[in-house]
Amino acid sequence: MKLYILFSFLLLAVICSSSVDAQVKFGRLCSSHSRNSIRECDSYGCGKYGAKRENRKHLGLDIACDDGAKVYAPFDVMLNGRSKPYGNDNAIDDGITLSGEGLCFKLFYLKPDRLTGTLKKGERIGHMLSMQSVYRGINSHVHVQMCDASDPTKYF
Ligand SMILES: [Zn+2]
Repeated sequence: MKLYILFSFLLLAVICSSSVDAQVKFGRLCSSHSRNSIRECDSYGCGKYGAKRENRKHLGLDIACDDGAKVYAPFDVMLNGRSKPYGNDNAIDDGITLSGEGLCFKLFYLKPDRLTGTLKKGERIGHMLSMQSVYRGINSHVHVQMCDASDPTKYF
């Protein structure tokens, strides 16, 4: 009987841990960083979702990435066209909309190699643009934003 109870708990533990594992996680995004790390605060702001910006709230999550670094597909994705953060055609006004793992999201400040088709996890999406030329001294980063502007933090 005791063994039966023990096995029941074990089974429960396995079920619980596997449902946690089922949470989608972003794989490595940037060649200059061995793992995804949230942009540290600098004079322009902080990388967290909801961080303060001049007269609004930050609606994405910033992942540290050096200018010129390669940006990788975080999991198998479909490319769904260009998406520009500002629309002012400055040096970092480029990005792409992606879908995969049931998520729709945008990556900003990178130059996509192409705008349609599919990529496997770890394949190159494009490269980081020159963020330092627009915001000197900023901690350069890729901006990750869900298409519905919800908080992506749980995926990291
Ligand atoms: Zn951002």
